[in-house]
Amino acid sequence: MPLTDATHDPERRSWVDSANAPDSDFPIQNLPWGVFSAGDGPRRVGVAIGEMIVDVTALEADGVLEPAPGEQVFARGILNPFMALTPTVWTETRARLADLLDAATGDRALPLVAQSDARMHLPVFVRSFTDFYASKEHATNVGSMFRDPDNALMPNWLHIPIGYNGRASTVVVSGTEITRPLGQLKGPDDDAPRLGPSAKLDIELELGALVGTATRMGQPLTTAQAEAAIFGYVLLNDWSARDIQVWEYQPLGPFQSKAFATSISPWIVTRDALAPFRHPTPPRDLPLLPYLEEATANNFDIHLEIDLAAEGCAPVTVARTNARYLYYSAAQQLTHHALSGCAMEVGDLLGSGTISGPAPDSLGSLLELTWNGRDPIALPDGQERRFLEDGDTVTLRGWCEGAYRIGFGTCSGTIRPAPVPPA
Ligand code: CA
Repeated sequence: MPLTDATHDPERRSWVDSANAPDSDFPIQNLPWGVFSAGDGPRRVGVAIGEMIVDVTALEADGVLEPAPGEQVFARGILNPFMALTPTVWTETRARLADLLDAATGDRALPLVAQSDARMHLPVFVRSFTDFYASKEHATNVGSMFRDPDNALMPNWLHIPIGYNGRASTVVVSGTEITRPLGQLKGPDDDAPRLGPSAKLDIELELGALVGTATRMGQPLTTAQAEAAIFGYVLLNDWSARDIQVWEYQPLGPFQSKAFATSISPWIVTRDALAPFRHPTPPRDLPLLPYLEEATANNFDIHLEIDLAAEGCAPVTVARTNARYLYYSAAQQLTHHALSGCAMEVGDLLGSGTISGPAPDSLGSLLELTWNGRDPIALPDGQERRFLEDGDTVTLRGWCEGAYRIGFGTCSGTIRPAPVPPA
């Protein structure tokens, strides 16, 4: 199958005018999937086009779309049943939607809802969340800070996409408020730990990959199979409590410091839409074992930004980076994940790990941007930040830029105060 087709034609225009604006995240070449509701109505599957949403649940009920003959895969208002169909069906359905939305061939009577009138929900039931650590710059920075600048990368890092099994129960959609976590805290000079709210609440700018093709227990994948099994990508903020993390993370890795919240953007940008923006992974420092080698370019050239806004203040962009810096692609992460025989499910979410680049402002966490609080970030109204304060809002943005823009929309969250500690 060729990597690009008529759905990527830059000349295509939609009869939905707002989709043709050059700065629209959602032109006819994108068509990302989401779940929305309007008013008191039920959850429905939709596709973003300009400032509107096409009601795909209604299209299927009316027989305009029939991805699984005899079944209503969009009726439950969640994307898992559609994702469980084949990659060929994903591609064909996207092509059909592009034809329906095309200014030349389309059907102007399609059911549309304004995004401003819709409430977005988690697009998938996330069965499991796994968080990787696939940015060499990030791993090097953290290793330098917490261990040894001369041996910042652990010896396994250049061979294994390092990851840990996180919590799916606290994966939330953009816009959900984030409660500051309580935890055990112990500074280097403290005699004993104490209970309290995290004072080093941080963000992690990541790319999330959503698995659309399940594997059986005991079934490894090639990198090509893994790449084809990924339905699409979202922006992901893996909220982190650095003071809880530093006391708990040895010997078994992060636990409560990462378990309290992970936000994702509501629109899943498909691997089909990203096809023109494929980018190879960076050069290897050491050869990989052959099972991790890739025959295709499986990273993506996605511009990423972090905005930070104090309560009542205008946002400021504190970091600009790119998903192409990831040392391990999502396909390599998934390949390694399944290697042992770990079964992958439809709706499994793989976080890339914090994406940092080589420049001082291309760092995907406050931990790195402020170097663990040493170098505060100046906000425009005279405030400064080392870590997040209550009332702060963080917004991630991501987009591919070429003959047109393939945008991810935003992934945001506002910090709320910690609860009263249990006695
Ligand atoms: Ca993370």
